[in-house]
Order: sequence, then structure tokens, then C-alpha cells
Amino acid sequence: MPDTKYVFVTGGNLSGLGKGLAAASMGRLLKSRGLQVNILKIDPYINVDAGTMSPYQHGEVYVTKDGAETDLDLGHYERIVDIGLTEKSNITTGQVYQAVIDKERKGSYLGATVQVIPHITNEIKDRIHSLSDIEGESPDVIIVEVGGTVGDIESLPFLEAIRQFRMEQPRGQVINVHLTYIPYISTTGELKTKLTQHAVKELRAIGIQPDILLCRSTRSLDDELKKKIALFCNVPIDCIFSNVDVENIYFIPLVFEEMGVGERLVELLGLKCDRPDLSEWKEMVDAIKNSTGILKIALVGKYALLRDAYISVLEALAHGGIANRVTVDVDCIISEKLEGNDNWRDILAGYSGIVVPGGFGDRGIKGKLLACQYAREEKIPFLGLCLGLQVATVEYARNVLGIEDANSTEFDEISQNPIIDLMPEQKKITRKGGTMRLGHYYCELKPGSKAHEAYGVDSVNERHRHRLEVNNKYRPMLEKAGMVMSGVSPDDLLVEMIELKDHPWFVATQFHPEFQSRPQRAHPLFKTFIRASKDYQKRVEELSPGIKLEAERKT
Ligand code: GLN
Repeated sequence: MPDTKYVFVTGGNLSGLGKGLAAASMGRLLKSRGLQVNILKIDPYINVDAGTMSPYQHGEVYVTKDGAETDLDLGHYERIVDIGLTEKSNITTGQVYQAVIDKERKGSYLGATVQVIPHITNEIKDRIHSLSDIEGESPDVIIVEVGGTVGDIESLPFLEAIRQFRMEQPRGQVINVHLTYIPYISTTGELKTKLTQHAVKELRAIGIQPDILLCRSTRSLDDELKKKIALFCNVPIDCIFSNVDVENIYFIPLVFEEMGVGERLVELLGLKCDRPDLSEWKEMVDAIKNSTGILKIALVGKYALLRDAYISVLEALAHGGIANRVTVDVDCIISEKLEGNDNWRDILAGYSGIVVPGGFGDRGIKGKLLACQYAREEKIPFLGLCLGLQVATVEYARNVLGIEDANSTEFDEISQNPIIDLMPEQKKITRKGGTMRLGHYYCELKPGSKAHEAYGVDSVNERHRHRLEVNNKYRPMLEKAGMVMSGVSPDDLLVEMIELKDHPWFVATQFHPEFQSRPQRAHPLFKTFIRASKDYQKRVEELSPGIKLEAERKT
């Protein structure tokens, strides 16, 4: 029986308090002590996975290497803990019920009335346990974040399962961390503890006593306040921590460590481990703090109103900035704003780089086409991601090859010039859930290309989530006109990357490199894109003394 310890992370009062970041930061603190950490997220919604949800509902869909379409918090886990997660790392109500109902139909529970307790709760516990033995490897600690807020109807079976889980484990194997809210009342200048008291009361009513409280607030709690919380919530004062807003999410692990969160976790779980080594993390944070300038990047997308819809892209751009010692300031531009707008060029002017990210459906496509055209014509560094590659190819076919009606069959099913078309194996698929080309696939890089130069290797494994591809029929034409197919699948049947010969840096990928970027190890394409944008900014400023690209936008 593996000696894995467990940290359950729940949240009270309201969502959006940063539970995912807190869970990931605790993971980083444990990992920095030489411990093997695994981490998983429970999402109490009924969808089997996040893949069928609009990014406006739940933010970005994060794709794991094995192709699971998961919650965006898994992105925070991978980036902050720096681990590779799998489909086992995200449990939803949909998955749990589907599995239990399948077993019922198979006759696995013959004779029994199948109920939430014990059948659903057992299924939940089994799934958590299954992470404690992956191909014979047992992590020292598994962190389990329960999405939603304690008190929500749909999270009840999960909380009950957690309560049982702790009872069934030897003492000291499991702890509960609860994240609560401490509002600041500006008229009286006070931090109020009542919401936290209620949040803890709610958790205790379910039978879970928190061991650690992380109190999210705009300012630090003093000892008097902590004493009050300790008394009402039955949590020792040295286990109550202020979780104060910070400027940058990557500062959180260091702030937590300084407050003693790491030490307390180790002590409560009785872990034997090394002293924390956060030197690499500190170096990265120093690079953020000592950036040498600001770089303005435009991200032109359809879900631009919600930054969470592009969170991994935004983080990867920030990582590119860290690697190049610049602060990357991204404006998310709603692509529809460019459409039918005589001043669309003005909207895009003044940026040092343009990104067209992934997406689905034809809304906002015209604006994305304009963004690609502008970057191509004005020689502004461009990075296209998935749909971004497809739109850049359509734009090239229309405006360079002169195929006016070139299109993607996603936007025009009966297009006479389907430059982008459904992959053959996608043509028969009608079910939407989990049926795209998902997860890791190899891409071979063309020697001498910008892609090859950026990666510095011949072949890469990147994460995918798409149904359409560049239509091979048009490849020779596109290549003849100056488009380079700089990355292809090993069988040469799928275009994985394109770039333009006659451009300082115009690169697009059919895959999603953003998912593999890390703050201390920016993804090569993001690192190189930001370097090219920095060069572009410098060139413009040198050519037009007096014009500062970064300043121009801020006014
Ligand atoms: N909608 C496009 C496809 O299915 C692009 C997908 C994406 O950007 N993730 O191929």
C-alpha cells in the first residue's frame, strides 16, 4: 500500500478566489523540498469533460499530453508545479456517473440499489486512489482541488467522499485546506471575518474540519484577527494564513513559503523531506521584477472579452517575456471590432507583435483575416495558433494566390476552394465529445526554417485539438507562392506548421504550443516570437526617432 499523503483543497464563500493557484503553489512548495507531487482537479459539473463547453462558460479548455480536454486550472498546475498531467487529473460528475451507470448495466452491482452513498462516493475515492499508483510509481503527496464552492448542491457527493476518505486513511495521511474570503470594508477601514466563519461552519456541517485556512483578502490579517478566526473556526492560529492579492501569479509560491505554508504542510503531514530549494523559481521571479521594458502585443480573437479564454496563450507570452527580459502587455482585441471598420488598421497599429489564437466557428473570422493580412503586409511578427494557422493560410490564398473564394469548410461547407478542410478521419464523426484530433502528435521540422531554428531539433511532440487541416491539394500552390510548410506530420500528410519566406517572423502552428510553456522554460516558439517582436519594436524606434511603440499605446 503506497504511503501517499493527501491535501484536499476546498473553497468557501465564492468562486474565483484563486483556489487553483493556491493548490498549484502548495504543490510547488512541496516539490521544492524534493517530494514527488501529483495534483488533480474535481469539477462538479455534469459534462464528462470541459471540451464541449464554450470558453465563455468556463474559460480555456486545457489539453493534456494524452489528449484530455480539461479545466484551465490544470494549466496552472502544469506551469507552477511543472509536471505533466493526464486524463486522470480531472474528475467530473459526468465521468463518475457515467462509470457507475456503465457498471450497473454490466451487472457489477447485481442485487444492490445503486446510490450516491456508497456507489458514487466509492467511485470518486477509487479515482483519487488510482493516482497513488501510476505504473508502480507512488507520489509522496497528492493535492486534490474541489472546484466550486462548499454549499453548492453538485459538490456534495465529492465533499462526502473526501470526508470518508480521511476517515479511512491512517491518522496524519490527509489534511484539508480551506480557502475563504475576508472582505475589507473601506468605510470603516476594517477586515471582516464573518464570511470566513460561515464558510468554515458550512464545511464543518459536512463533517470536514479544515487544518489550514488560506484567507484571501486585499490586505494582511493581523494577529488579533487571526485569533478571532482561530477561535470561531477551530483552527490553530499558526495554520491561518493571509492570502493577499499579488501583482503576478508566479509570486504566490514565494509569498506562501515566506508565510510558512510549506513548513506547516510538511509538519501536518509528517513528511520527511529536504529543505526547500526555490532558487530556480526565485531567479524567474527576479527576471519578472527586473524586466527591461514593455512590449505591446495584440491578441485578436473572438472570446477576447474574457482573458481566461486564452489563459495559456497569455501565460506563454508572459513566459516569452521572462526569457527576453521584457514585460509583455497583451491587448485582447475582439476580432469582430475590425470587421467593416474603416479604421481597422489603426486598431492594429502600434503593436510589436500579433497573435491569432485558436477558436471555433465563423464569428469574427473576417477580423482575424484582417489581422493576418496586416501582420503579413506590415512585416509585424505574427504567431498563429491552430485556427490562427488556418486563417493565415486562407488569407494567403485569397490575397497572395488570388483565390478570392478560398475558405475553410468550417466557415463555408460548400466552398469551391476549401484551402482548409476536415481531416478525412473526421468526416464520418458526428459525436462532438472528445472526438477531435487530441493530444500529443509528432511534427517534423524543415531544416533551415524559422521553426527549426526556434526549436533547435528535428522533431517535436506537441498537443493538438482540431478537426480541420490544410488541404494537401493546395500545398504546391501555397509553397510556390512563398509559404513554407515548416512542420509536417511524420507521414507528411498533415501540415503542422507554416511560415512565410519573405517576412521577419510569421509562424503558425496547427498545434497548441502554449500548453507546454513554463515560466522558467518559455516554449521555444513563444520565446522566439517575443524576441522577434522586441527586435521589431527596436527597429521601428530606430527608424522613427521619437516614436516609442510602448508609450504610444498607453496614451
Ligand atoms: N476550429 C478549428 C478546427 O477544428 C481550429 C481548432 C482550434 O483552434 N483549436 O480545426
